[in-house]
Formats: sequence, structure tokens, C-alpha cells
Amino acid sequence: MKTRIYKQDDLENKLVQEDIKKTLLQGGNVIFPTETVYGIGAYALSEKGIKGIYEVKGRPSDNPLIMHVTSIEDVKKYTKEHMSYVETLMENFWPGPMTLVLKKKDIVPNMITGGLDSVGMRIPGHHIAKKVIEIAGVPICAPSANISGRPSATLFEHVLEDFKDKVDIIIDGGKSEVGLESTVIDVTREFPVILRPGVITKDMIEKLSIEVKENQEIDKSDVPKAPGMKYRHYAPKGQLIIVDGKLEDVISYMNQKIIEHTEKGLKTGIICTEDTKNRFPSAFAISIGNIENEEEIASNLFLTLRHMDKHDIDYIYSISFHQGKYSEAIMNRLMKAANYNVIQLDT
Ligand code: AMP
Ligand code: MG
Repeated sequence: MKTRIYKQDDLENKLVQEDIKKTLLQGGNVIFPTETVYGIGAYALSEKGIKGIYEVKGRPSDNPLIMHVTSIEDVKKYTKEHMSYVETLMENFWPGPMTLVLKKKDIVPNMITGGLDSVGMRIPGHHIAKKVIEIAGVPICAPSANISGRPSATLFEHVLEDFKDKVDIIIDGGKSEVGLESTVIDVTREFPVILRPGVITKDMIEKLSIEVKENQEIDKSDVPKAPGMKYRHYAPKGQLIIVDGKLEDVISYMNQKIIEHTEKGLKTGIICTEDTKNRFPSAFAISIGNIENEEEIASNLFLTLRHMDKHDIDYIYSISFHQGKYSEAIMNRLMKAANYNVIQLDT
């Protein structure tokens, strides 16, 4: 298969629009940028299209897909009645990086929900994502555009690495600004439960006078199902280790490790911030951003992991991020990428 590549301006071209629509309706796959990460899209009611996503990503079939639409009316076409607080969430955070898990109507195929009776729905805010769904005129399932287990793609180049000539169409929309996947919130009960943290945070929801819980706060016998969470995610090729503790101790520890690995002929990479990147003279140190700027850190996380892969780094040490409103979302991804491998230096 030869992938057709379009740029943002091409979406105004009638022939390109027809190609995108026809491809999706006939069960093909189109990758497009969203504000969170790039998504690999298929017509939600096309068995062929959905199968294509699972196959090309290598995604386990019980990990459900999020359905993307462009209006709240469309959400209601596919989901059952919901509590009144759900309306408030929709009105405040859509279009945007929030997915709501709602009770599904029968029209939603079990294939996209991993057999659950609920479905994740999102109205994306990115103009290209909206345009693609409008062109298709149908709901589009769009999980992150990465081979399963790999870091999500936030750059066109990273989409190409995983999917060139494996999908019908890729749309180049530059960098996905948010850089972390949507906040997934289960709203099938009296109070919302955050299944996956993101840049729509618990605090932001509480500001609307809505009581919200995090997955880990829920009684284990009553844990909402989020099948995707049990799988390995975001993993770089090298071994990622998070180092936590006082900054100076962390820097010394990492420099010691760099020496040990270098002696064995192994390459070490360091994920640090702007203010510390000069403290690792003999390693491949990447600044993920300014320590004060959590938007920047979130936005650069996945591309930094992929950058380490490009340089064939064997061991990657990352500082941990405990400051700022996105720290939970950032650490959630980083911990999974590291397979929960954390060195705690505090005594
Ligand atoms: P991705 O599309 O790759 O960002 O992954 C979608 C995430 O949403 C996964 O963690 C899924 O487990 C979660 N998700 C999607 N639909 C549901 C659902 N109906 N119930 C619970 N979690 C869901
Ligand atoms: Mg994903």
C-alpha cells in the first residue's frame, strides 16, 4: 500500500475531501492530528475500518476505541441518558481534550468497545480533526497513532515512522500541542471518575462544583473498567528509569550511572529540564522544557522518548515531575513508559 500524504491546505481541495470521505466510508484508515496526539481514524460503524485499526496498531482487541464526533447532538445519537453533571462537563470542556465514557446505544458496535456496554466519546478541538470528521460526515474512531506499546505520536515525522505505507492517508498537521492523550472520565455513575489523567484536571472539574474521584480512590470491588490501562504503554526501546529525590542527588546519581554504562560501552540518555541540561557533560541529555512550564513538558514528553530511540540509547534516566497542574498526567505516562521503574533517592 502506498500512503497518500496531505497537508492542511489540501483539505480545502474538493478532490482531497472526496478521497478522505471515500476512504473512510469504504473502511480505510486516515491518520490526522488532534490537539492531544495524532489519531488513526476509521469510520466507527465500519467493521473493516475498525479491524484495520486493531491490526495495523497491533492493539489488543479488548482495549476500546474512542469515538470522535463534532457535536453534543451526535454524542447523544450514540449514547443513553446521562446525569445532569455530564452536561456541565460537555459544555465546559468540549471541544477539547476530554473523553467521556457513557452508556452506549445498541447502534455502537461491540467491536469498538471491547464488549463493554459503555463507549468513550470525544469532540476534538483541533481544526484538522474537526474538518476530517465533517468531511466524513460520520463518527470516527481514532486511537493514538502509534504501534501499540510505543510512545504516542505528536509529530508528523513520528507518525511516518510507524505507519508509512501501512495506512491509506496521513495528514500532516505539524505538532500536536497538548502532547498527552485526553483525560478519560467515566460518567456512568452518580459522580465522575477519572480513569486516565490529562490536561483537563480534577481541580478544573471541582471548580465547576462537581465532586470527582480518581480511579485509585474507588473501592477496588467497584473499579470501573478501563481495559487499556493494563497494557504496557509508551515504551521507548531503551530502558527508562525515573529518578526521584533532591535535585542535586538526582544529578549525581545519574552522572554516576552514565560513567558505569559508558564503561560497558552502553549509551545513556538523560531527560531533564532546561536549567539542568548542562549538568550531564558525558551523556546525551535532552531538555524536555522549562521546569516552570508544564504545558511545554507535557507537549514534549512523547517526542523526547522517540528522540532517544532515534539515537539508540540503551539506558534513559528521567527526572520526575511533581510540580504544576499537569504533573499527574505527565507522571502517569512517564511511569508507564518506565514500566514503574523508579529509583527513590530520598532516605
Ligand atoms: P487511546 O485511544 O489510545 O488514547 O486509548 C483510549 C483509552 O480510553 C484507553 O485507555 C481505553 O481503555 C479508554 N477507554 C475507551 N473507551 C472506554 C470505555 N468504554 N470504558 C473505559 N475505558 C475506555
Ligand atoms: Mg494510545
